[in-house]
Amino acid sequence: MSKVYGRGANEVRALDDVTVDFDRGTFTAVMGASGSGKSTLMHTLAGLDSVSAGRVFIGDLDLTTLTDNELTRVRRDRIGFVFQSFNLLPTLTARQNILLPVDLAGADIDEPRFDALVGSLGLTDRLGHRPSELSGGQQQRVAIARALITLPDVVFADEPTGALDSRTGAALLAYLRLCVREGGQSVVMVTHDPMAASYADRVVLLADGRLAGELHQPTADSVLAALRTLGA
Ligand code: ADP
Ligand code: MG
Repeated sequence: MSKVYGRGANEVRALDDVTVDFDRGTFTAVMGASGSGKSTLMHTLAGLDSVSAGRVFIGDLDLTTLTDNELTRVRRDRIGFVFQSFNLLPTLTARQNILLPVDLAGADIDEPRFDALVGSLGLTDRLGHRPSELSGGQQQRVAIARALITLPDVVFADEPTGALDSRTGAALLAYLRLCVREGGQSVVMVTHDPMAASYADRVVLLADGRLAGELHQPTADSVLAALRTLGA
């Protein structure tokens, strides 16, 4: 697929003929310099933004053929998304933000699952707070809980550990790995951190909107070496 923003002199080719796949039940890190197209890749894969050319599949389903309503349903039922900027609703409490996808789907709240999720993210005593009353790291964890509450087939997370201290970040990464290993969910995560990337099964490298290589069973050292080669 390709993604072009703007036109004429303002044209930016954010993704340039990228072909990539992510196996079900795997954890992938996407890395590359600022502006290399990581967020654009996540948004187009999740059906939040259209592609300029090419196709995007979740399983056999081609997202580029769906109507807006169909796409909304697929995003709601099968995809979790953690935005780089969190995108929490300011007037809702943490609990209400986390449960928003469940409410929108008109589904019943699985309270034990909710309790386990917020407990593992260390949010249990913050559920009544609004986003403005939470730290950046807490807001990020609320955004992560919101993405995971519906047990989506695939979770896209744009720098989910960016605002977390290293201990909370490590707990989140371990939790994402558990979702993959035991829940069979797929996780695609953007990160700048070689240590965070080492939790993944695979690292996909982007440079100037193109694929620039990949690593399997990455370690922090092998990721660092690959980023150096890339000049990122
Ligand atoms: P990354 O997440 O790797 O930093 P992005 O996907 O955000 O990169 O951006 C890739 C390129 O596309 C950059 O040159 C950026 O300026 C451009 N870009 C991203 N979003 C838009 C937009 N909405 N309109 C115009 N250009 C954009
Ligand atoms: Mg980005």
